[in-house]
Amino acid sequence: MSRRPIIAGNWKMHNNREESKKLVCAIKDSISTIDKDALPEVVVAPVFTSLDVVSESICNCGCERIKLAAQNCFYEPKGAFTGEISIDMIKDFNAKFIIIGHSERRQIFGESDEMINKKALAIIESGLTPIICCGETLEQRELGVTDSHIASQIVKALDGVKPDDVANVVIAYEPIWAIGTGKTCDSVEANRVIKGIRSTLAQIAGNENAQKVRILYGGSVKPETIKEQMAQSDIDGALVGGASLKADSFVEIIKGAM
Ligand code: PEP
Repeated sequence: MSRRPIIAGNWKMHNNREESKKLVCAIKDSISTIDKDALPEVVVAPVFTSLDVVSESICNCGCERIKLAAQNCFYEPKGAFTGEISIDMIKDFNAKFIIIGHSERRQIFGESDEMINKKALAIIESGLTPIICCGETLEQRELGVTDSHIASQIVKALDGVKPDDVANVVIAYEPIWAIGTGKTCDSVEANRVIKGIRSTLAQIAGNENAQKVRILYGGSVKPETIKEQMAQSDIDGALVGGASLKADSFVEIIKGAM
């Protein structure tokens, strides 16, 4: 089964509007001559306040090469939810993906598996694609509960999602101890965990659908690590934080995934 790789940049709370525009244009300039069928699906996730400028820059530069993601959303369509933003509001900017369940949202903002499930269902209903993050803490890894913890996160996030829809979601396996720390998870081990995610998906939605799901690795991905990561059987790309903030390193990662 061939799955088109995805290289997604999570800009987190970095880059004002001008910086966002500069960064997306620099990425676009560097990949504009690469045959678009050879490229992985390239995704950038700016802060909400930069979605419009990044969206415009992508459209002006040729939409097919870069796709837009939001870093979060709320699952209700409208109402008294101060500080939140709905999926339809994100759709206004032609976003295709929404990242949900990032460990920073879970740990700092207290997002539960139940909330992540509501977001996944609402995103799928809207026609966008959720990038659902999962991952274990260092303590969980040392206790030997990594696989069961991740399986539980996946089952809960996808509760009530139709099997055919499961095939289209994107999962990002991000060991929390590897995020922003410079420590990458050994590629063979990341692939082992990701294979476990795929078998959980097969139990939920059948093997054929599970084989279609793109599962990314995230956690201190760098230009030097991407080739080995992409050489693994079940790693279908990367969710990149720090190294996506500089066009040069992000483009090297994109090229490394080709
Ligand atoms: C992330 O935030 O999803 C991430 C993987 O960050 P970093 O690449 O900086 O570890």
